[in-house]
Amino acid sequence: MLRDPARPLFHWNVDCTIGRELVFALYTLPCRYGRCAFCSLPSMSEGGERVTARDIERQVDFVLAETPAAELQRVAKVSIYTAASTLDQVCLPTRSLMYLLLKLSDLPLLRRVSLETRPEYVEDWELKAIGAVLGEGVELEVGIGYETHDEHLRNKVLGKGLSVKTLHRLMVKLQANKASLKAYLMLKPHHSLSEEQGISEAIDGLDELGGLGAEYEVPVSIHLNPTYIAEGCALTSELLANAYQPPELTSIIDVVAAAAARSLPIYVGLDDEGMAVSGGTFQDTGVDRVRCVAALTAYNRHQDLQRLFDESGYTSVR
Ligand code: SF4
Repeated sequence: MLRDPARPLFHWNVDCTIGRELVFALYTLPCRYGRCAFCSLPSMSEGGERVTARDIERQVDFVLAETPAAELQRVAKVSIYTAASTLDQVCLPTRSLMYLLLKLSDLPLLRRVSLETRPEYVEDWELKAIGAVLGEGVELEVGIGYETHDEHLRNKVLGKGLSVKTLHRLMVKLQANKASLKAYLMLKPHHSLSEEQGISEAIDGLDELGGLGAEYEVPVSIHLNPTYIAEGCALTSELLANAYQPPELTSIIDVVAAAAARSLPIYVGLDDEGMAVSGGTFQDTGVDRVRCVAALTAYNRHQDLQRLFDESGYTSVR
């Protein structure tokens, strides 16, 4: 059954490091790139071809009407997702993005707006327009899928289509517009990596991203995604055929510790949003799964490494 074009995919409120966060997941045309082997997102926006700019603006109105007024008064961060790229104007027309941003200007405590996009859709003029609408005091964060450090793995195996040159071009635009970077990093993204190699690959990614931030003076944060076996993506049968074992919770904490040692804020995404095959998410060898997940979820808010060790019962030596 096709979705109602005037309703978003999802919307929710959570606690984040700077206060309450309001999340829009808008229903639009699906991702036009659509070639990442690990991704099943485009299928979420099936039928999105008929969603108009006006429909998207009705989705925005719907989310704001559904969110209690008292909650809106507390919102410090707004994140805008689609099953595509937020800055791809074919999927999310600029007029609809601006409509949403103008509505956000009514939020009294708003300090950060986060947009998720492929880097090639980031244009200087649009960042300037967004900055002008948001005004002083509201930081723009651009989230991209960096995924993994090794270029062969990232582009030839996973099909990401992201070159180092493109990353540098993006950093120039972010620097010029005082925007920050949030990079999605996968942990153990392929069956060809051992557990240890998966950790090293992620740490190499931290070093490259931290280095880019330092070179361009752009604040960088990491969103770590422990790879899960997603239903219905190009990689699913390959991972299953090769008896791929998703990463251990201890490996996740190892990468978090490595990020903390490099002064990089890191957030761990432990929710597969119902898209993983049965048993296809992170493993818990030698640790208490519930305790570790609770400790990592809390870490996403407090970023205190010692507290993570204490609460999880696992101390990383990295
Ligand atoms: S990861 Fe992003 S760019 Fe790649 S197919 Fe999925 S939505 Fe498109």
